[in-house]
Amino acid sequence: MSAAPPAQPYLPFTRPTLDDATIAGVAEVLRSGWITSGPHVKAFEAQLSAYCGGRPVRAFNSGTCTMEIALRIAGVGPGHEVITTPLSWVATSNIVLDVGARPVFVDIDPVTRNLDLARVEAALTPATRAIIPVDLAGLPVDRDRLHALAKKHNLRVVEDAAQSFGSTWAGRRIGSFGDFVSFSFHANKNITTIEGGCLVLNNEAEAKLAEQYRLQGVVRTGFDGMDVDLVGGKYNLTDVAARVGLGQLPRLDEFTARRRELARAYFELIAASGLPSLGLGLPVANFTDSNWHMFQVMLPEARLTLKRAEVMAKMHDAGIGTGVHYPAIHLFSLYRRLGWQPGDYRHAESAGRNLLTLPLFPAMTRADVVRVVDTLAAILRSHQKS
Ligand SMILES: *Cc1c(COP(=O)(O)O)cnc(C)c1O
Repeated sequence: MSAAPPAQPYLPFTRPTLDDATIAGVAEVLRSGWITSGPHVKAFEAQLSAYCGGRPVRAFNSGTCTMEIALRIAGVGPGHEVITTPLSWVATSNIVLDVGARPVFVDIDPVTRNLDLARVEAALTPATRAIIPVDLAGLPVDRDRLHALAKKHNLRVVEDAAQSFGSTWAGRRIGSFGDFVSFSFHANKNITTIEGGCLVLNNEAEAKLAEQYRLQGVVRTGFDGMDVDLVGGKYNLTDVAARVGLGQLPRLDEFTARRRELARAYFELIAASGLPSLGLGLPVANFTDSNWHMFQVMLPEARLTLKRAEVMAKMHDAGIGTGVHYPAIHLFSLYRRLGWQPGDYRHAESAGRNLLTLPLFPAMTRADVVRVVDTLAAILRSHQKS
């Protein structure tokens, strides 16, 4: 009898790449005597601003408060409506509720899986003040069309670019143009500060307001002057976190290039596996603009005898992690209580049930991709409806 092959290490769906120089840099900050917001946050903001073509950028402790603060700066509040997508991390619409406004969902385009801009005009009312597009999986929403629409209807734009740091539109970096742009540096994002985010603003006056909202509304002058003229929160990034970001930012291009290579390997190996003939849906094959934050396939629910959770369990048993990004927001209890119902956004609901995020992170190998595709193909092939 031959021995069972050694078990392969568990492959998570994502994992941050933190180098030794960054870890040593963090230790230095911890020993320095200044561990919360200070010189490293300033340095990180300066580098982010340079990355964003010199636009003002402020760092925060999440990529959620950034969007809430952008809405506050834009004066969006009670009585106002904000257009967004039902297929996102729930932060995107929660922040609209947080400022007292109402989210107005517009269904996704089933091909890009992003907010369908062709449906936005039908959703506008005299109360509409802003639009929050999301670049799901790093694939950018059409910026030409988005900003033309916003200009025509006098709407503010808060780009939820949490997933598209490193993506471009027509050769320009996401963040280097437009209105407000929000990035997240959560542990799973393409660069991380463990938790954190930043907001790209239009001018220094907005940046000053962002600083106030970031820390209790405080304005300081001279050695001892302090005033508070608005209600701010507690959203500042620490220097420890900023030091992590300073170690990540120089590696962004390398990370993006590696993610693109792995995404190409997925397309090639999935085509060879026969999975498309079993009805598996693929993402848009974009290798110029997308940063490939995620590689998401659409399970063919009508042709399978098992549900997504069972596919995930079988992948897990084979040592492979997968993820769900995301269930449709309007079907959560909170949103149903506010009036939304199943059937409201049919493409987002189908994506919410059937999208499956496969492993993709810079330290993965091509052999890992082979393993993921072979395992998924074997599972789907043996669970076909007759
Ligand atoms: C990660 C993410 C956020 C929120 O970022 P946090 O830093 O976790 O607050 C918002 N929107 C989308 C689409 C995200 O992926």
